[in-house]
Amino acid sequence: MNTSLPTRRSLLKTSLALGGAVAVASGEARAQDQKVPQEAVMYQPTPKDGQQCDACVNWVAPNGCKIVAGTISPKGYCVAFAPKEG
Ligand code: SF4
Repeated sequence: MNTSLPTRRSLLKTSLALGGAVAVASGEARAQDQKVPQEAVMYQPTPKDGQQCDACVNWVAPNGCKIVAGTISPKGYCVAFAPKEG
């Protein structure tokens, strides 16, 4: 009888689980790195028709955006603008 087989199985399961966790973690890191370039959403550092970044749901104070890369002005605007509710 081979007594090492269960050990190998459990090791395999453990390594598969760890591999999955690493893949999920690196996927999240990639998602954060993969913001949209400013040019792709026609970002401009000035408001448009009274709409500006600090009134957008994607705004991240003091100068960021959840979906657009780089430094974002609170007075900026892009075509992905979505007003905060309330
Ligand atoms: S208007 Fe565009 S750049 Fe500004 S916060 Fe909203 S999504 Fe980001």
